[in-house]
Amino acid sequence: MAQDPIADAVLKLIREQDPDAAGMLERETERQQNTIELIASENHASAAVMHAAGTCLTNKYAEGYPGARYYGGCEFHDQVEDLARDRAKKLFNCRFANVQPHSGAQANAAVFLALLQPGDTFASLELSDGGHLSHGLKVNMSGKWFKPVHYPLHYDENHADFERIDYDAVEKVCMEHKPKLLMCGYSAYPRVIDFEKFRKIADKCGALLHADIAHIAGLVASGEHPSPFPHCDVVTTTTHKTLRGPRGGLILTDNEELSKKFDRAVFPGTQGGPLMHIVLAKAVAFGEALKPEFKAYQKQVKANARALAGALVDLGFRITSGGTENHLMLVDLRTRDAELTGADAEKWLEAAGIICNKNGVPRDPRPPRVTSGLRLGSPAATTRGFGEAEMKTVASMIDRVLQAKGDEGETARVRDEVRELCARFPLHGAPAHASAAS
Ligand SMILES: *Cc1c(COP(=O)(O)O)cnc(C)c1O
Repeated sequence: MAQDPIADAVLKLIREQDPDAAGMLERETERQQNTIELIASENHASAAVMHAAGTCLTNKYAEGYPGARYYGGCEFHDQVEDLARDRAKKLFNCRFANVQPHSGAQANAAVFLALLQPGDTFASLELSDGGHLSHGLKVNMSGKWFKPVHYPLHYDENHADFERIDYDAVEKVCMEHKPKLLMCGYSAYPRVIDFEKFRKIADKCGALLHADIAHIAGLVASGEHPSPFPHCDVVTTTTHKTLRGPRGGLILTDNEELSKKFDRAVFPGTQGGPLMHIVLAKAVAFGEALKPEFKAYQKQVKANARALAGALVDLGFRITSGGTENHLMLVDLRTRDAELTGADAEKWLEAAGIICNKNGVPRDPRPPRVTSGLRLGSPAATTRGFGEAEMKTVASMIDRVLQAKGDEGETARVRDEVRELCARFPLHGAPAHASAAS
């Protein structure tokens, strides 16, 4: 993959003016080049997307929407936002898109503001089973000003749906509490979501249906996961996870009346001026996602996740729900070593240059800062060109690090091998010298 002379020039420019900031940027660039990124919610955006995000569109106020702005000088901003909206609609096959949310949590906040009154009830997955904090955490706005009721995963080990969505439980919770809004879509769920089943339950209990596809948006956009349309009333997502765009959020719907409510809830409801440099980068990323190469990438993301999960199972790890059908997996560490915690595993792996996050497994007895699991994802490693063979190598590296329990010699040996592997797969968008440096 091509190195990036523009990133080199940017680094040089910043260094001339601000060596402290430049040093930090340089070290982070090298960190990304020289470590294996397995955090399931992260990716490496293309050079075009990153540079689009670093443009003069950051200078402009464009409060409002195309054709109806509160500031002059928005001619090209209107064009950019229309381009992003049109591509988003095409990508997800729906009628309306709002590309202004600053993040996934901001997109969800706008949906709540648009559809609920303070104190209203909504239903979502138990957060400790893989839900997102913006789906009703007590200290989040969603949990503080609204009333979340949660449905659990299937907890019966002998059931075929063990650790998968328990649709009977969803229905039971919804019929009992009659939520105004039913949410599906998660942060740590490795299986396919059946949006049609959720639609039936939403209709039965009289709820609107909201899919938060923050994690799986890239898979959905390329047909590698079933679409939430036409089943859902509203769909929110991030743009920086599997979708591989800039950091940001997106609200999608087929319902014209709701779309107007969402637009008002984003601006002026919860945000001021849009980040138009990010909207430009979103347009560029959506353009990339519409190309055939993106579908091939998403297929490889799934194949790589399967390869990593399979290799870990062969090494004696348990993968929750027995495997993965998307880009991520939850590794239950206790089957390999009863004493092993997610916190220790995350720390030891980072020392070896393998970056991931500790994560609770369903009904985890350990607290969230400790946990019994790791969440691993394939999107970022797939972007840099890893295939199934490399993922198997990564699995054995993970096992060696965890067996060594922080032993410095073995950790250093794996660290060297990680560097060598990464050097074979240079990141696009990195300054030319970054991959050469050690
Ligand atoms: C990541 C995520 C979000 C939030 O995204 P931010 O951009 O971090 O605000 C929302 N919902 C789900 C399900 C997520 O996984």
